Amino acid sequence: MLKVAFHPIYKHPLPEGHRFPMEKYDLLPKQLLHEGTCEQENFFQPEVREENEKYIRSVHTPEYLKELYSLTIEPRKARKIGFPLSAELVERERIITDGTIKACHYALEHGVAMNIAGGTHHAYSDHGEAFCMLNDQAVGAQYLLQNKLAKQILVVDLDVHQGNGTAEIFQQDDRVFTFSMHGKSNYPFKKEISDLDLPMENDCDDEHYLTALRNTLPGLIEKVKPDFIFFLSGVDILSTDKLGKLGCTVAGCKQRDEFVFEQCLKYDIPVEVSMGGGYSKDIKTIINAHANTYRTAQLMFF
Ligand SMILES: [Zn+2]
Repeated sequence: MLKVAFHPIYKHPLPEGHRFPMEKYDLLPKQLLHEGTCEQENFFQPEVREENEKYIRSVHTPEYLKELYSLTIEPRKARKIGFPLSAELVERERIITDGTIKACHYALEHGVAMNIAGGTHHAYSDHGEAFCMLNDQAVGAQYLLQNKLAKQILVVDLDVHQGNGTAEIFQQDDRVFTFSMHGKSNYPFKKEISDLDLPMENDCDDEHYLTALRNTLPGLIEKVKPDFIFFLSGVDILSTDKLGKLGCTVAGCKQRDEFVFEQCLKYDIPVEVSMGGGYSKDIKTIINAHANTYRTAQLMFF
């Protein structure tokens, strides 16, 4: 069964003009239920669990966590996160991390599991950036490794923004291979070095995008031989995205998801999917493109 972590919407309104589309966390599960892609039993609600702290602490530094949890991050560093910090927001990040840990578990059981949130790949070991405070997939990877549930992990980060935090966190760790395919001239402007980076030119269309992915991912799986995959399925690769600079269509984005799932199935590798970015002007486009990832998983795995 497809298990999906959902998260109640962040209750505090963001400041006027804030670009982060918080409503998608509310609208996406509603859409999936409405159209019958998911039933209530597909959803689970993560929570704050103290036992997750040891995995969070193996990803993030004690100094950073102390500042984050006590809301005492200095203003210059807090501005980089881009959200007005609050206890509720930090709690939400911890809940999202639990969603990814549990989704790892469900993925081992069912082949795939998803988190309607997460993909917080700009969170570094010692600071947060760009709406990301705790790196959910990095924490999930530590959970799997420490519990001997996986030996070799592959991160397939297809959000339009480079997975800079994830790259930094696992720079010295051979057990986690970080692959990031992203917009060359998109944030972050100073990129980290992933184990494999595939920067794409501005306005890159479906054909170029999918060809690059098809030419890379199977060979990578053969080389890395992962026993677990984290997929970051951001839909900010769309031409309609306000932040992304690539030129993919909704159909192309869906073909991307199909291709990733096809490889996971072909090589029989469990996959956890965190949602990542999506900032198209029309919220309906965002919801439709994200919903495609869930529709595709349902169709291909179950
Ligand atoms: Zn993004």
